[in-house]
Amino acid sequence: MNIHEYQAKGLLRDYGVPVSAGRVVLRAEDAKTAAGEMDGPLWVVKAQIHAGGRGKGHFKEPEAGEKGGVRLARSVEEAAEFARQMLGRTLVTIQTGEQGKQVNRIYIEDGSDIDREFYLALLIDRVTSRISIVSSTEGGMSIEDVAHDTPEKILTFSIDPATGFQDFHGRRVAFGLGLQGNQIKQCVGIVRNLYKLFVEKDMDMLEINPFCVLKDGSLKLLDAKMGFDSNALYRHADILALKDETEEDPKELAAQKFDLNYVALDGEIGCMVNGAGLAMATMDIIKLYGAEPANFLDVGGGATKEKVTEAFKIITSDPNVKGILVNIFGGIMRCDIIAEGVLAAVKEVGLKVPLVVRLEGTNVELGKDIIRNSGLNVIAADNLSDAAQKIVKAVKG
Ligand code: GDP
Ligand code: MG
Repeated sequence: MNIHEYQAKGLLRDYGVPVSAGRVVLRAEDAKTAAGEMDGPLWVVKAQIHAGGRGKGHFKEPEAGEKGGVRLARSVEEAAEFARQMLGRTLVTIQTGEQGKQVNRIYIEDGSDIDREFYLALLIDRVTSRISIVSSTEGGMSIEDVAHDTPEKILTFSIDPATGFQDFHGRRVAFGLGLQGNQIKQCVGIVRNLYKLFVEKDMDMLEINPFCVLKDGSLKLLDAKMGFDSNALYRHADILALKDETEEDPKELAAQKFDLNYVALDGEIGCMVNGAGLAMATMDIIKLYGAEPANFLDVGGGATKEKVTEAFKIITSDPNVKGILVNIFGGIMRCDIIAEGVLAAVKEVGLKVPLVVRLEGTNVELGKDIIRNSGLNVIAADNLSDAAQKIVKAVKG
């Protein structure tokens, strides 16, 4: 789960990490008061969406101004005007895709005088099973470009969980960034607190870009992106409360309500499968036969009729879906029950695209009979590759 920049900065503040003073604004009429609570002479007006690259982004509506989603204002009035222009508009950045994201919240910050911009991130390295610290002198720009063009400018190392964070880790970052004197001590303190925050809140990603040296020589974090391990949210009610449902895929939200493991993808074949391993295999074989899955969907071991119906609703609500493949192994569940569930779902939700059903396991013949005799336009399949070929053929001709 991701949170907004202003929420991330609230957490950073709680952990003693230096960030600017700021106010979040939800309604244009509150912008002037919010900006007036800071002294100036510089205000930063920042669109709050769950995507980076806002500064270089553009709005779909011309009345939101030519400039991107991060703007520098020289007066309270100008800050309020920028906030008014951005609210409710759609911001397109390299991370949002063409459709962009609607801006419903604005963060107005006390502007800083920047001397240098760095990059700093904490991530879970799945290869070493450790937290990695990534830093670079090339901040303020896309780290993907830096990694591509000048990989030697990125410093990465991981922290042994047995020792946890040690001051030398922080010094390594400080020296890599070319910090001097008191900045080194400040950097060690910041990285220590970031590590503590990362571990205590079960984060899976923390990206600070830019991490700045200001003109007065002090260090400050001017942007923050945070992601949390959703499997650990049950023990972080405070983090869960920060969830902005307008930022989530409505199909994924519906799936969460019914305890379905669903991930939306870009392809054209909707998949309904039980078990994560079978779901992965199903996606692979769809690709093998030349099409792309529209989603990963694991209805779980206890696939009830209600769950199957909900899964169907979610799949068919995706306009990209040109065909559906149901691939279910009846182990604890019997195939005849599953077949009845599928048919009930089709009757309730309706079916505008081809549907291939492949069942295997307990009472498989009974299940197939139910599908065959249903009178509905359902294509039965015998095995995994048969099913994949049939749905790809039905979709692609
Ligand atoms: P992003 O484009 O979504 O990554 O948004 P950022 O918060 O990183 O802002 C983009 C850029 O705006 C930064 O790289 C800075 O150059 C600039 N910026 C952000 N905050 C300030 C500030 O307080 N003062 C000044 N002068 N520039 C800022
Ligand atoms: Mg940034």
